[in-house]
Amino acid sequence: MVPRPSSPWLAAAALTAACCAQRPKLIDAHVHHNGKTEFLEQLCARLDPYDGMALLITSPKDLDSVLAFMKRRPGRLAGLGEIRLDDPRALELADRFHAAGFAGLGELTKPLKDYHDRSYWPIYERAEKHGMILLFHTGIVSRGSPDIPEDASSDRMRPGTLDLIARRFPKLKIIGAHLGNPEYPIAAETARWNPNLWFDVTGSTLIKTQENYRIFNSIFWWSSVASPHTPKGGPSAFEKLVFGSDTFGGEIEEFDRSLE
Ligand SMILES: [Zn+2]
Repeated sequence: MVPRPSSPWLAAAALTAACCAQRPKLIDAHVHHNGKTEFLEQLCARLDPYDGMALLITSPKDLDSVLAFMKRRPGRLAGLGEIRLDDPRALELADRFHAAGFAGLGELTKPLKDYHDRSYWPIYERAEKHGMILLFHTGIVSRGSPDIPEDASSDRMRPGTLDLIARRFPKLKIIGAHLGNPEYPIAAETARWNPNLWFDVTGSTLIKTQENYRIFNSIFWWSSVASPHTPKGGPSAFEKLVFGSDTFGGEIEEFDRSLE
């Protein structure tokens, strides 16, 4: 998906204005850094033909090296600071990432409570004050080490939990990853009424639905529908989607597959 210039679904575009001479023709809103500079070189080589940009999920330990790389390759990367909602240092880290010029925070995942739990509100409030994007994992989540007991549940990350956050913090720019897999209609409807909420379709969704992409026409049904029951929007309901690759572990081929 190559964004059109006027499209409001470029949640990230606003923040790029300051850093880039040219508006990027492609923004990958979901890339996990593996900590290696070689990966950033590969990523930039993929982005160059599009004057593209990626939101790079960066752990605190990689902050300095990523900042140094960004200086060498201006305009290609914007940072998402990786924090955990239950980390007692979450606010301090949010401030640190903001001071470093990062565009947002994420990917938020595996909270100990539901995303909309009030104990997390100070973090959302801080991010809103900083004008940051928040990237939330939504829906089913992988279970990496099945033998190790884990306090995690996809039920705490249902896409509907973003509704309260979007309403309560109207200036936050929120991206839900994975379109709430498999709760696509809930994700789409939640985005429909929240102008500050978008989703990406990374993960297994486009693989499992590849024989029938038409189902998305019924999920994003409100294109050009004029009705008092729908908010005024652009010509396409698919404006609620942002492009993402969810590249992780240095597997740059995932970027190519997602783009295809
Ligand atoms: Zn995720």
